[in-house]
Amino acid sequence: MGPTLPLIPVVPSTPETPDDAVPAQAGPRRRRPAMPPRHLADLDPEARRAAVKELGLPEFRAKQLSTHYFGRLVRDVAEMTDLPAAAREKIGADLLPHLLTPVRELSCDDGATRKALWRLHDNALVESVLMGYPDRVTACVSSQAGCGMACPFCATGQAGLTRNLSTAEIVDQVVYLAGVAASGAVAGSPPRLSRVVFMGMGEPLANYPRVIAAVRRLTSPAPDGLGLSQRHITVSTVGLVPAMRKLADEDLSVTLALSLHAPDDDLRDELVPVNQRWKVAEVLDAAWEYAARTGRRVSIEYAMIRDVNDQPWRADLLGRLLAGKLAHVNLIPLNPTPGSRWDASPKPVEREFVRRLRAAGVSTTVRDTRGQEIDGACGQLAASTVDGAEAR
Ligand code: SAH
Repeated sequence: MGPTLPLIPVVPSTPETPDDAVPAQAGPRRRRPAMPPRHLADLDPEARRAAVKELGLPEFRAKQLSTHYFGRLVRDVAEMTDLPAAAREKIGADLLPHLLTPVRELSCDDGATRKALWRLHDNALVESVLMGYPDRVTACVSSQAGCGMACPFCATGQAGLTRNLSTAEIVDQVVYLAGVAASGAVAGSPPRLSRVVFMGMGEPLANYPRVIAAVRRLTSPAPDGLGLSQRHITVSTVGLVPAMRKLADEDLSVTLALSLHAPDDDLRDELVPVNQRWKVAEVLDAAWEYAARTGRRVSIEYAMIRDVNDQPWRADLLGRLLAGKLAHVNLIPLNPTPGSRWDASPKPVEREFVRRLRAAGVSTTVRDTRGQEIDGACGQLAASTVDGAEAR
């Protein structure tokens, strides 16, 4: 008898098998990053009632919790002092786990722009930005830790995707920032957070179901949700066409922003690599379908990159593509990112680009570059802690 052969572990091959069930050494399959524990904000009102019942608590506690969290922006169960102590403990453990651990907060523009860096339960890092204006306060939130879209001019794209955020990890960023606004910390701005843009880290339409659920939490009337207007929510995408078409079917009137950055496939293939899959014509088609279905003007994002996409002929081509459509162009002066070989376009070049678009009848504005000095501006969110300021 020869020696017994070593046992070869059997790797389940069904894609439905949760990766967590597969031992790490079982084979080449990568473990799926662990999602955080569930949280009140993951659940719709019915599921919240079911969850408190499972904890052996009366159903009305669900509404009480929602009123605290969404209505009063109280995120910590310890502050919900009208709950009996025993209930508080159960609820804290089961429905209000701490999802976001603050690592640091930076501000600039005299406190009107603030960036929060968070550590998640698995040590992934994400950032959120709060921007105060005289008439409104806007939260810019992350939908993924990192990003898999690999746009070469964006800092987030350089490190790749770590994982999708859960619905509650997205919502909790907004609830936190709404609390900052409500505390009066944003001088010169109203205390009520009124807008949310999914323009932080990540590609929101690549985390579709969780982002849609987050939008529903943000827009449901209080106390079920935050009661923001759907029109004041902007979902920004590199142009994942099937997901854009799906979004048009959701019966939501959120604003869609499309990160176009080039009017021609040759250049867009390079600047927004997903263009190799869905071309400019297809992505604009999906945008016009969204506009037709919702009546909402689509926002076309275009980072102005010196000598790359800022030529007069590209302005004219963009003008021809957008003329007569329900669209608004937002030009973003390129923000510097570490190691980038590109610069922002000079102001006269930018002005000429604007002039040509307007001459074509296309409504165009230049976005202010809030938060540059705290690396909180568009494309600068990389969640780095290299300056050593990180906590533990
Ligand atoms: N992934 C989504 C959401 C991110 S939104 C999207 O791409 O739309 C962030 C916006 O800032 C996008 O329009 C993005 O293209 C733009 N951006 C990225 N890097 C930038 C930079 N360095 N300067 C200016 N804008 C940038």
